[in-house]
Amino acid sequence: MGITVLGSYNVDLMSRSPHLPAPGETVLGGPFQLGPGGKGCNQATAAARLGCAVRFMTKVGNDSFRELAEKTFRSENFPIEYLLISDKGQTGCALIVVDQEGENSIVVAPGANMDYLQEDMDAIEASVAGSSLLLLQLEISMEANKKAIEVAQAYDIPVLLNPAPYRDFDKSLLKHVTYLTPNETEAESMTGINLRIESDFLEAAKVLYEMGASHVMITLGKKGCYLYSGGQAGELLPGFQVKAVDTAGAGDCFNGAFAAAILAGKSVSEAALQGNAAAALSVTKVGTAPSMPNSTELQAFLEVIRGFQ
Ligand code: AMP
Repeated sequence: MGITVLGSYNVDLMSRSPHLPAPGETVLGGPFQLGPGGKGCNQATAAARLGCAVRFMTKVGNDSFRELAEKTFRSENFPIEYLLISDKGQTGCALIVVDQEGENSIVVAPGANMDYLQEDMDAIEASVAGSSLLLLQLEISMEANKKAIEVAQAYDIPVLLNPAPYRDFDKSLLKHVTYLTPNETEAESMTGINLRIESDFLEAAKVLYEMGASHVMITLGKKGCYLYSGGQAGELLPGFQVKAVDTAGAGDCFNGAFAAAILAGKSVSEAALQGNAAAALSVTKVGTAPSMPNSTELQAFLEVIRGFQ
């Protein structure tokens, strides 16, 4: 059995810019790129490229971007029956600007990602019930996410929740979350704790653990990630040093690669290490879903790293 990734499909409309525009400013950028993205699609792609069987369930509009979604499903081998089509919503879009240092600024117009109907809930049930792991984010209708968590709970299926992009949600759901993966900003929003030094990571991770998640991994950009699974201490798993050209999608790559490793039977800290390594590779390439590494690239990278240790 494989993973169900229930999440967003967005078309990424991206341009590089000398700097991120200030309010009211227009900057001449370029070149322009258009490609598949959305946290759900990126995470599903990352897991699939690392050899995991993935059911990616998403909803797009009945518009010209639908074809792009179908193309992604074909190229990443996602079963097409989990691609839902909305009659009224447009396919989600992300407007992305990346500066010369690889920092980004993003606006998402979610469209059909928020348009889940009662009949879609049955499809969610059918998909989640036959999976070994459920992977979710916060970029689609919360009703759809809630339904998926309920099904996972009923069938005793572990849930990986990446609470991104952060928005308020019913925290009682965290009791059914096995792996929670906020980044620094999301962890701060969820706990109210300002993350500056390692003791802050532990304090925030403990709060999230107390809310119900069994394993908390706070991703820390190039610093790597902080893992806490109960007890006195957590573990800082350092990131891999690379030359970053575009950090968009790094968190998604971490989540997909982490999920693939868990499904392959690795421990939580081994899986987090795989997440760090795959995400480091992804920031060396431009784009979100297109920058996700495959197993061969990841193995080659890990061998080079081991050679230096
Ligand atoms: P973030 O969402 O920024 O916390 O990034 C997610 C994960 O991507 C981190 O936990 C790292 O493993 C990896 N990552 C992000 N930025 C970089 C970078 N500049 N260099 C290496 N790894 C990175």
